[in-house]
Amino acid sequence: MKGVGGGRFAPSPTGPLHLGSLLAAVASFLDARRQGVAWHVRLDDLDTPRNAAGADQAILVALERHGLHWDGPVVRQSERLPRYHEALDVLARQGLLFYCRCPRRRLRDHATYPGTCRRHTAPRPDSAVRLRVDDARVSLTDLVQGEQHWRLAEAGGDFVVRRRDGLFAYQLATAVDDGDGAVTRVIRGRDLLDTTARQVLVMQRLGLPVPVYGHVPLLVDRAGRKLSKQNHAAPLDLDRPADNLRRVLPALGLDGAPADAGSEALLSWAADRFDLARVPRHDSVS
Ligand SMILES: [Zn+2]
Repeated sequence: MKGVGGGRFAPSPTGPLHLGSLLAAVASFLDARRQGVAWHVRLDDLDTPRNAAGADQAILVALERHGLHWDGPVVRQSERLPRYHEALDVLARQGLLFYCRCPRRRLRDHATYPGTCRRHTAPRPDSAVRLRVDDARVSLTDLVQGEQHWRLAEAGGDFVVRRRDGLFAYQLATAVDDGDGAVTRVIRGRDLLDTTARQVLVMQRLGLPVPVYGHVPLLVDRAGRKLSKQNHAAPLDLDRPADNLRRVLPALGLDGAPADAGSEALLSWAADRFDLARVPRHDSVS
């Protein structure tokens, strides 16, 4: 029997998994196993122009090949649009939204949104929808990175919840999905730490429960760049799942994995030992 709540792995289907995304998947999987809760897979496929044909299936096949078996149905953000509309309505009724037409080039000179369009609280066409942050502060204890404090006005300011092209923004959709109750533990890469404050603010404004967070280190190349699709990280070799797992486990503080074990045995070896408090905060060179 699994306990209440769960963890999740939420890749964007913009390409096949690589070692860096495998690390994030393994971290959230091991944490869920360790906690005795479910582990969900969600495809963050809202940014439709960036989705790659067939990448969703390729990701699911790669997870299966590595013994990363998920619980329940795979959730697709593209199938949850009514839920995001509803969330936007709740924010609008609180007077927290405004309609921004600032050209991107004008905003480039500002680290924080300058508040130009705040008076436009009625819908107008060809606008992004932004959420006012006012004097909001978010504090939490990250299970890996320790205490975090943000003042949102200094961390980007009023942010986009619905893009000018009509697509729901990552921050809104992720907050709604992670706050909907089934997700109680968000274990993901350190590069997303700074997005957490915005997601927590959305959850708070919607009255949703806030999960606990743990941001694990990244795999980087020798120049310190995150392994990513943008940096042309190689897709996982699906004929060598155990080797791939052996390459990511040390970044989570799990050294000395048995050399001859297959992927399922490696994952259960790792789940017995995994401890977020002992995961290094710093990145690992892959
Ligand atoms: Zn504006």
